Amino acid sequence: MVEPSARFDGIGSGFAHFFQPPPADVIRFTIGEPDMETPGPIKDIAIQDIKTGMTHYSRARGLERTCKAVASYLGPQGIEASWKNVIITSGAKQALLSAFLACCDPGTNVIVPAPAWPSYDPQIRFSGLIPIHVPVNNSSLHLDLEAIKEACNEKTSAIVVNSPNNPTGAVYSREEMESLVCLAEKRDLWIISDEIYAPMIWTKEGHISPASLPRGKGRTMVIGGWSKGWAMTGWRLGWIFGPSDAMDAVAKVQANSITHAPTFLQGAAALALEDESLNQEIIEAFSARRELVQSHLKRLKKIHAPSLEGAFYAFMNIEETGMDSIEFCRRALEEARVQLIPGGLMEHGEGWVRLSYATNEEKIREGLSKLEEWLENISLE
Ligand code: PLP
Repeated sequence: MVEPSARFDGIGSGFAHFFQPPPADVIRFTIGEPDMETPGPIKDIAIQDIKTGMTHYSRARGLERTCKAVASYLGPQGIEASWKNVIITSGAKQALLSAFLACCDPGTNVIVPAPAWPSYDPQIRFSGLIPIHVPVNNSSLHLDLEAIKEACNEKTSAIVVNSPNNPTGAVYSREEMESLVCLAEKRDLWIISDEIYAPMIWTKEGHISPASLPRGKGRTMVIGGWSKGWAMTGWRLGWIFGPSDAMDAVAKVQANSITHAPTFLQGAAALALEDESLNQEIIEAFSARRELVQSHLKRLKKIHAPSLEGAFYAFMNIEETGMDSIEFCRRALEEARVQLIPGGLMEHGEGWVRLSYATNEEKIREGLSKLEEWLENISLE
């Protein structure tokens, strides 16, 4: 009998089953995408481009204008990118898969600080690589560089770094990134840097890419995209930038798989980066929501959450409630009518739950009040 490949045995589909739409009275704090519309002028260009015949095959690495827009966008972040080393992909997700295929030889180990976004593990596995989940510091949620160092051996080929982080909301500091780069240099490792949430940073220091550090740029693959910062999840557009030999390998993955990202979407994507004002409202809305969640978290009994540094996630420690994360989320759904993601679904995530504030302020207020009241009541049990 024919059987599907064993490479998918035990591989899941991320948080998908936790996104099941709950009953109408439940506040969903689970969604990982902005609830806003893509800004109008961006949509208009895509419509115009489809009408004017931008419907044919085009350059595999992406339209020149779009690659140039990405290179210019990365410049102010301290990343000196030649547009020729930028490739436009079908989302950051596809860029990540290309990075694993392009940088790591089959059978090698990839370090993943955990808890982590659940698609790294499957991508690493079906690329023929071995994920090594290394816990982050359990109180700050920042990198544990000693633990990463100890997890490295002669089989290690790369480290994944995701700042701002999903699910923890942590933003890694310059000092942390410098130590990481130093370690990668010593062990001759690639850094696969997922910067999809870089537009959403709430720390003073801002976003630090390992590619902006002198010793990091020759060994970092920078992955980003339009999904989160421009409310363009459904467009399936992202980018990858890195050293030219690695980008030649990524170009081979691209040309022999998706060919290129849709031609008629790329002019609109370029405009999104060229005109800084276009996503200002989205970022301001998230900044206001972040303030709201941050101030409300202090009122939740038996819950501890580190400061919300970036992205749109609060990672909350629930150990003091005496429940594990699955039980906590099950009861929060049934009794408080609030939907959250249990950290226990992720390696090293037990004891925590993820709250996404990608929903409007009214719902945030209502959901957090329900959670507060429920926690008050259960603390009397
Ligand atoms: N990386 C992280 C950390 C994410 O949270 C997500 C989406 O949830 C992605 C990458 C995928 O982004 P894209 O929609 O551009 O594929």
